[in-house]
Amino acid sequence: MPPATAGILSTGTEILQGLYPDTNAQWLAGRLTAAGITVRRVMAAPDEADAVADALRFLSDRCDLVIMTGGLGPTEDDLTRQAVCQVFGSQLAEDARAWEMILERFTRRGTPPPASNRVQCMIPKGARTLYNLWGTAPGFVIEAATTGASRSVAVDGADQNGAVEGPRHSASPTWFVALPGPPRECRPMFEQYLEAEIAQRFGGGVASRILTLHTYGVSESALNDLLHPLFADLRGDPWRTLAFLAGEARVDIRLTVRGQGAAEMRKRLAPLVARIRRRVPADCFYGTDDETLEAVAGRALAQRGLTLATAESCTGGLVAKRLTDVPGSSDYLREGWVTYSNEAKQHRLGVAAATLRRHGAVSEETAREMALGALRESGADVAVSVTGIAGPAGGTGEKPVGLVWYGLAWRERRLRGIAAADDALGLGVTRVGALRVAATQTNFRSTRDLVRIYASHRALDLVRRLALGLPLCLPR
Ligand code: ATP
Repeated sequence: MPPATAGILSTGTEILQGLYPDTNAQWLAGRLTAAGITVRRVMAAPDEADAVADALRFLSDRCDLVIMTGGLGPTEDDLTRQAVCQVFGSQLAEDARAWEMILERFTRRGTPPPASNRVQCMIPKGARTLYNLWGTAPGFVIEAATTGASRSVAVDGADQNGAVEGPRHSASPTWFVALPGPPRECRPMFEQYLEAEIAQRFGGGVASRILTLHTYGVSESALNDLLHPLFADLRGDPWRTLAFLAGEARVDIRLTVRGQGAAEMRKRLAPLVARIRRRVPADCFYGTDDETLEAVAGRALAQRGLTLATAESCTGGLVAKRLTDVPGSSDYLREGWVTYSNEAKQHRLGVAAATLRRHGAVSEETAREMALGALRESGADVAVSVTGIAGPAGGTGEKPVGLVWYGLAWRERRLRGIAAADDALGLGVTRVGALRVAATQTNFRSTRDLVRIYASHRALDLVRRLALGLPLCLPR
């Protein structure tokens, strides 16, 4: 049996006006996916009964389970209840216990409830009330037949509190769940009342596992070309999906597999990972799931007993900041400089005045001398430097905004047997006595913030590559 499908409907005109993000849908989608259910649609509807009813019909025709959030409040624009009745031809009836709970809540506060709160206790006939211990609006669950005109509330027997309209679609009843909008109410209600039942009823013992492979240095479109045959094979496969997620300086390949238990999921995942790894250059993968580039670069240094120094200009310390975000980074990070002015580059790192005059602060020569200076001053085994034009001003025809030069220097003796051979590094390596230095550039045309983030990424990736014995150049 393929996994059950779900649709999520968030109501609220403010969501459609961009006033707050739809975090309910994001959260619910994660929970349902983890329960082995395929989320097929996420929709948002304005606070209008017709629009909500339309969306409900659309989802109910396509999904085994529909979860709505919002619109259960006491005000005129809270119309979920009416929309549900419109779709199911049902009527509202007061749930006495829900009203008691609201009274108790207000009694504790020492004020009588406003009359408008009473409308919150009106629940569609035939629905199961989800009592709200975290706020005022109760939610509800309706089990319904969903075959076009015969869409109706399913009630077992005449003694239930509603009339049965139309035949029950007992083979695959659609579940409609309505939850209040505030996340602090909707989340605990889902967890407490629904999660286990939904997993048992719709998950069919199926669980899902998401594996994220982080890549750097290969574009989303290049990845798409490389993995095109795999995409074609997986189209329509309910058990395995592949997606790209382009981040600020990386592209993630996200694999979702479903299965009955860990062994089955592993069996589905392993060949997919192998196929992806065969097609994408291996040095572009830097980590999985929660691993960050700074943690991976740091671990590579630590495992080889290497230490690092940083010399930064346009990134203003971002490389050092990211490295020190990782607990335990004092094991390998010696020190870092932010040499923003030419004077600082000269006085702190020994960059020659003539180099700056002749080639400028953003140049291959300056980047090399910054890295060499940081290596000598710190006594570290590896030093990385960054100097670039973050913008928005300061660019020229020859050196546009976004141009960044990187230097990487290391002690040959300490990196012997670790780093790839000089001619395999893919960048010209210069020998300066017992030291080695290489330089490279990138040109990310983007905003100041992004140029700096991209630059910190490339700098960290250079360190990772050197410490892992990989080529320093990116694949073409
Ligand atoms: P209440 O009883 O509080 O009125 P409600 O069910 O009517 O609950 P809404 O009025 O739709 O909920 O939303 C109340 C608040 O909950 C919103 O102002 C917003 O802060 C938050 N909220 C609603 N829907 C979402 C959503 N999809 N994602 C994140 N926050 C939401």
